[in-house]
Amino acid sequence: MKTLLLLLVYPLAQLVLSQPTYYLIADRVFDGERLHEKWAVVVSGKRILAVGPQASTPPPPGATRIYYPNTTLGPGLIEGHAHLFLYPYNITDWDTQVLKETDAYRTVRATVHAKNTLLAGFTTVRDLGTEGAGYADVALKRAIQENIVPGPRMLVAGRAIVSTGSYGPKGYDSDMKIMMGAEEADGHALVQVTRDQIGKGADFIKVYADYRWGLRGEDQPSFTLDELKLINEVTRSSGRVMVCHAKSKEAMRRAILAGAETIEHGDYVDDEIAALMKQYNVVYFPTLGAVESLQQYRGWKKGITPEPAVVTQKKKAFAAALKAGVSIGMGGDVGVYAHGNNVLEMELMVEYGMTPVEVWRAATRGNAKAFHLENEVGLLAAGLQADVLIVEGNPAETISDLRKVKCVMKDGELVRQEK
Ligand SMILES: [Zn+2]
Repeated sequence: MKTLLLLLVYPLAQLVLSQPTYYLIADRVFDGERLHEKWAVVVSGKRILAVGPQASTPPPPGATRIYYPNTTLGPGLIEGHAHLFLYPYNITDWDTQVLKETDAYRTVRATVHAKNTLLAGFTTVRDLGTEGAGYADVALKRAIQENIVPGPRMLVAGRAIVSTGSYGPKGYDSDMKIMMGAEEADGHALVQVTRDQIGKGADFIKVYADYRWGLRGEDQPSFTLDELKLINEVTRSSGRVMVCHAKSKEAMRRAILAGAETIEHGDYVDDEIAALMKQYNVVYFPTLGAVESLQQYRGWKKGITPEPAVVTQKKKAFAAALKAGVSIGMGGDVGVYAHGNNVLEMELMVEYGMTPVEVWRAATRGNAKAFHLENEVGLLAAGLQADVLIVEGNPAETISDLRKVKCVMKDGELVRQEK
């Protein structure tokens, strides 16, 4: 009778038995959208076989049972804005990392960053550029896919594009040829550079729509609207998307009108820009973690010394986006702070006004949709990749509980299992 029931629930039971099968249960299961009590997740091979209430989702025969008391289970988290080839600027400043560290050295470090990210429960990462390490991200992504080093599945930008003269490192004798943190191109040459980056492995094209090269060092647009449109057209025709670094209002406006899918940083989002983002379905990645970390490296003692103006401005921008109903993505610009500390961004998103469940959704289902991965990851549902994170406590109430990692599974493989 029991076998008959199992065959009804799992018509592919024969198939199931031929691959490693797991029966994961927890007191609470967050499926990427909502929280459920006493659910179970069945994993077979690399995919999720079934998700539902424990009562109607029995363990398949021979499945390995995984249960930790007082835990919550959710989809593997998705970091939306990482730089695996950078590490905290209070250890080594950005100029030094870009100019004095070889690509080989930076790649060795990046493998450790990738591992730390995965062990923290982040099974997918969008990496926004190597900042001077060429296409080492394409190589790292391949090595992870081939199981040579542990790490999250990656979407990579490669070198990224900046306009001539706008980007850093800056301040050197103009007679010297200084290597830039991204590839310079302008005007019609953007067609060739965009195609070259795609050919070398970029999954999307990252463009710096502005940079701090104004007369007083303020953020000013670096590309014209037509240039951005050209990059977008070339990128789109390859089936990829353009995303833009943009802090100033004018750069955000141009990026949105040119077809950028995501806006990175967006320091000066106001009601007008938020409405435009909403109208064009643009996802906003506010990168709060980087802003707060940088200020702390410069001496800010959070909660003790006065709040720096950039932090106050960021809170205003975040509030404007939230009020307008803009999709807010989870991506902290991690690399500015330590890889593996990715939850910092989620904690700040709660501090800045979102609920823990909204933030958790942003880091799973939300980011999956933003990156067109919604049929692969970010949701616990039959047929999707088996990426699972189990933590002690309940992140739906206390987001920091996401730091209390008990178990991480990626593609159906247990990559971390605490006692
Ligand atoms: Zn970045």
